[in-house]
Amino acid sequence: MSTSTQYVYLFGSSRTDGDATMKNLLGGKGANLAEMCRIGIPVPSGLTISTEACTVYTEQGRDAALAAIRDQVLQGIAFLEKEMGKRFGDSADPLLLSVRSGARASMPGMMDTILNLGLNDEAVQGLARKAGNERFAWDSYRRFIQMYGDVVMGLKPVKKEDHDPFELVIDMLKEKRGVQLDTELSAGDLKELVARFKALIRARLGHDFPNDPWEQLWGAVSAVFDSWNNDRAKLYRELNDIPQSWGTAVNVQSMVFGNLGEKSATGVAFSRDAGTGEDLFNGEFLVNAQGEDVVAGIRTPQQITLIGSRRWAELAMVDEATRAAKYPSLEELMPDLYGQLLKAESTLEAHFKDMQDMEFTIQEGRLWMLQTRNGKRTGAAMVRIAMEMLEQGIIDEKTALQRVSPERLNDLLHPVFDEHALRTGKIIARGLPASPGAATGQIVFFADEAEEQTKKGMEVILVRQETSPEDLRGMSAAKGILTARGGMTSHAAVVARGMGKCCVSGAGAVHVDYHARTMSIGSEVYKEGEWISLNGSTGEVFSGQIATRDAELSGDFGKLMALADKHKRLEVRANADTPTDARVARSFGAQGIGLCRTEHMFFEGERILAVRQMILSDDEAGRRNALAKLLTLQRGDFEGLFREMDGFPVVIRLLDPPLHEFVPHDEAGQRQMASEMGVSLAKIRMRVDDLHEFNPMLGHRGCRLGITYPEITEMQARAVIEAALNARKRGATVMPEIMVPLVGTVREFNAQAEVIHRIAAQVFAERGEKIYYMVGTMIETPRGALVADSIGKQAQFFSFGTNDLTQMTMGFSRDDAGKFLPEYLKKGMYEQDPFRSIDQKGVGLLVQMAVEKGRAARDKLECGVCGEHGGDPASVGFFHRVGLDYVSCSPFRVPIARLAAAQAAIEG
Ligand code: PEP
Ligand code: MG
Repeated sequence: MSTSTQYVYLFGSSRTDGDATMKNLLGGKGANLAEMCRIGIPVPSGLTISTEACTVYTEQGRDAALAAIRDQVLQGIAFLEKEMGKRFGDSADPLLLSVRSGARASMPGMMDTILNLGLNDEAVQGLARKAGNERFAWDSYRRFIQMYGDVVMGLKPVKKEDHDPFELVIDMLKEKRGVQLDTELSAGDLKELVARFKALIRARLGHDFPNDPWEQLWGAVSAVFDSWNNDRAKLYRELNDIPQSWGTAVNVQSMVFGNLGEKSATGVAFSRDAGTGEDLFNGEFLVNAQGEDVVAGIRTPQQITLIGSRRWAELAMVDEATRAAKYPSLEELMPDLYGQLLKAESTLEAHFKDMQDMEFTIQEGRLWMLQTRNGKRTGAAMVRIAMEMLEQGIIDEKTALQRVSPERLNDLLHPVFDEHALRTGKIIARGLPASPGAATGQIVFFADEAEEQTKKGMEVILVRQETSPEDLRGMSAAKGILTARGGMTSHAAVVARGMGKCCVSGAGAVHVDYHARTMSIGSEVYKEGEWISLNGSTGEVFSGQIATRDAELSGDFGKLMALADKHKRLEVRANADTPTDARVARSFGAQGIGLCRTEHMFFEGERILAVRQMILSDDEAGRRNALAKLLTLQRGDFEGLFREMDGFPVVIRLLDPPLHEFVPHDEAGQRQMASEMGVSLAKIRMRVDDLHEFNPMLGHRGCRLGITYPEITEMQARAVIEAALNARKRGATVMPEIMVPLVGTVREFNAQAEVIHRIAAQVFAERGEKIYYMVGTMIETPRGALVADSIGKQAQFFSFGTNDLTQMTMGFSRDDAGKFLPEYLKKGMYEQDPFRSIDQKGVGLLVQMAVEKGRAARDKLECGVCGEHGGDPASVGFFHRVGLDYVSCSPFRVPIARLAAAQAAIEG
């Protein structure tokens, strides 16, 4: 690496090197800090060490990285000293620093922050004299040692049941002094804490807390780089598809203090509501506090706006007089500063054209903005903010569509409590409505246990005093999260919203006892394993299990979907097997059925008996007898589908799965069939044994069934054509497409097409009327894709069965891959599960080639996909690019596919 590489970028009032476009190099936080300086927002001066330095650190080690950046950091600190008029390491009036991580994409709670760096036994005295506030100085020092001891020196709880070791020391001292709040500790007490903290470090780690500010600084910078590779950061990246190779930047910034007394404060603000998307400035703050106090949820934060404060009071059941006296809003408490904050907030939102999540500090009556970033939000808020910003003329249609991540539409389809069931629910506590939705489950108190029990198929609610980033996996596994402490911006709230998971935070009446594994509310005690229910939209906590039902979609959702349809080129159809599925699919905007798996109706009611009779008969006559019964049933089903899909195409697939799936394997079932068919049990048993296959997925299935038993295809073709004519008679516009599965050679297709056309002609002659229909094929065997040109000459449409095409191309079974795929993904053999997101380079290439070959043989050949990949946003993008006409997916994923299709069209 050349020594001339710039690793350090300055920002301040007299000079700013970076800007918002430099996120890859400076991380999101660093780039935005630079941009804020450029547009005149009051920001404490600082420097950003680039992500390239992190790469050097990861690849070449600590010594090489520190050597590469040392001189530039020294010069940077000299710049800060000049800007702030203080010296780093000065014992009379020290310049103090914050050190924070900042990756390209924001990773809340993942990386570590150090505040008050530069304090030591001498500087603390200088700070006390300079600030005229001894308590403040010692409080800053003990916080610094606590954070540094934890984050840099690694002094953590030994067992999961244990509390933070530093907090234990504080609790012991508070108990000795007979006080409850940290703020009740005197300067002398804090001095005592510092001594005890240092002794704790020495006793537990065998070396001293570093007194030299430069040693502190290098330690903190290294810790940030190390934290890029800690487990929870890795997990967050895995869950959010962030490459490990990006690295993090380090932001070193002059400290400002929100804990300098009653004229100082610190807080977090959002330019719009992150939960609902409402265009309402909101946030929380604490007087005389430092940043982490708001997020950690140790004290109950106050609201920034009066309106927010009144809403909070209503939820928290605090009367107006108490609210105004004990929890006034910033708007009431410091109206001037509130005005400045409001101005900064609107400048920032207008500048970044997106909802901003900001951190601020008020130091003795002066406002400083510490951070701004595009705010995380619920799926519902994503949709509302995008549509309102479009209506407000802030962003254009394409940007609005790109602002919503398709997967997050799932949040809008979140369950709510069944109203009927809710009437029986008893509210046992209230907290903050931190992340919407309804959840019900059994209480667990530890994140790792939430994960284990969910794996066993249990539904759990994770109950914690407060959550920390270590709890991420458990939070992700749980149905919902309840915390006793913390505001709307606490870790639990922010992370749950990011996951789209129901969360109630800050339910103050809840007392958690980790050792006893109980939660008590007043005199009621709830044990581990008991059922509770949460309403993340109202903050209510209920005892017992309450049934949930699906959510209703808002007006903004409809507007977004209409906009998506305007921009997308791909059609979106649904995989639907019953008229009910078809109705749901239409309500989600499906433009037809891309796959009806006819056999899915075989298990309904009595019809399985007819199906079994067909399979177990050993001659054609017996089969025809059973098929006659099935004809009536299937015709009725198809008629229902055509009526629901009035005016849209319906693809009906011929029988596909191996027949042994339908036969009885137990003696009782076999006896029943024997008496039903008037044959011996032995005969039935023999027939069942005959059907056994070693590899049924590669056995007698797909079109192989129709070729060996053409009477099955005859029955199904007749059912489709007769149903189509019947539905048309009742006024529906019917567009039937009959699909032959698992074709590998054109002869297979031709043989089945011949049967279908012959039967259709027969029905037309019998009925004296005709209807237009198409006969096409699935492309789901690799050979089918390879000879797509010859098949394309005969077939009127292709539908890619990417489930089978994936299993046959990769050479592993859909049913067995679970045994090794997770390990494969962990080891990086595949980037993604190829059954979830299409393997673009392999299986995708077959799709692309087959489309080209097919269309070369038949101009404008209709091509679609009906494998599970049709509802995966990344795969939808791929299918758009290779020129498919439609994707087909399960009804609930239709909105996701519509949006993904629009985004693919916009990205081109
Ligand atoms: C496929 O293989 O992708 C497909 C849609 O068919 P099935 O899942 O029913 O095998
Ligand atoms: Mg298939």
